Amino acid sequence: MTNELTPSGLLDRARTLLPETIALRRALHRHPEVGLRLPRTQQAVLDAIGDLGLAPRTGTSVSSVVALLDGARPGPTVLLRGDMDALPLDEDTGLDFASEVDGVMHACGHDTHVAMLAGAARLLAACRQDVAGRVVFMFQPGEEGYHGARFMLDEGLLEHAASGAGPVGGAYALHVSTQYPAGTLNLRAGPMMASGDRLEITVRGRSGHASAPYRALDPVPIACEIVQALQTLITRRVSVFDPAVITIGRIAAGTTHNIIPETAELLGTMRTLSEHNREALRGQVVRIAEGIAAAHGATAEVEIRPGYPVTVNDDAAAELLGGVAAELVGSDRVNFLPDPVMGSEDFSYVLQRVPGAMAFLGACPPGADPEVAPTNHSRQVVFDEDALAVGVATYAAVALRHLARQT
Ligand SMILES: [Zn+2]
Ligand SMILES: [Zn+2]
Repeated sequence: MTNELTPSGLLDRARTLLPETIALRRALHRHPEVGLRLPRTQQAVLDAIGDLGLAPRTGTSVSSVVALLDGARPGPTVLLRGDMDALPLDEDTGLDFASEVDGVMHACGHDTHVAMLAGAARLLAACRQDVAGRVVFMFQPGEEGYHGARFMLDEGLLEHAASGAGPVGGAYALHVSTQYPAGTLNLRAGPMMASGDRLEITVRGRSGHASAPYRALDPVPIACEIVQALQTLITRRVSVFDPAVITIGRIAAGTTHNIIPETAELLGTMRTLSEHNREALRGQVVRIAEGIAAAHGATAEVEIRPGYPVTVNDDAAAELLGGVAAELVGSDRVNFLPDPVMGSEDFSYVLQRVPGAMAFLGACPPGADPEVAPTNHSRQVVFDEDALAVGVATYAAVALRHLARQT
């Protein structure tokens, strides 16, 4: 490695790229797109990396971009992921580059991810002579509930990435967050984020006059019993050392005070930190709902719509990412989290196939308190743009370190 490829050298280079990184981020921020089809964002990526000789390839079923950097010397293959999609909400930040699209906002910071990954591609392309192996840049649409990573895997992402090179041996991702001080890296080995499945339970009874419940079959108290029993399930059937969450966020039944409705609907979410719990809970939720309804002579239909799997950081990959980050920003700015985050993330699909790790890049704006600053998904969320230099350098450094370790 040359001196320039030391962590501090990479950070210096990333800082020189910061103006163009911020410019790309702001351009994307002005024109956010939701879901799996992000034509404008995809074109912005192609424009941003078009001069780097990375043979970018676009998806057929979704607006993805995959770019490959072949180093001057052969070696292993490592993947870096940046997600690209926005959220359906109205921005309320007052920023001068605020969203110009009604009802759509980059409130999860994926615009910063695109800009950081494009910056890392430029940085790594500039030192291709020192790269031994291949770096795959995965620009992914549809993270916010659309399973974009799964579409890319189904389209042969890993096979394409490996063609003419070795299999993808490591995968890394960063996610900005205002809940951590700017420029810090926050991660843990093992479960990093939860699985998130959607529960829909319909209790079916018999409607009638509210004054004569014995002549009807009231689904409302049965639904209430199910809500209670699900909480008992969580505390009595799930190990305290492998926690899970069920929240019923919506109960819907009836039209007015004097009618017993025919159905009562429950809508909720189920979060786990292991696929074992996830599988077990699916069966238990069905048994509880159907069993309670049956005990009252009613029926319950349970639909569990699978969300994302558990995001599990590989131990060695988390250590490598944390170690590189410590060299970049100082070990006092790398936090190994005691607990996972119960949100979910579709990089989990990649980590099911390839050992790797993701980390939260702190991006709380200057002067704000990470404890109370508007969070990701808020209409008011603002991210610190200086932190993007740390992100660019971290992406580049973790790729180089991974390749150097595996060579
Ligand atoms: Zn999000
Ligand atoms: Zn996100």
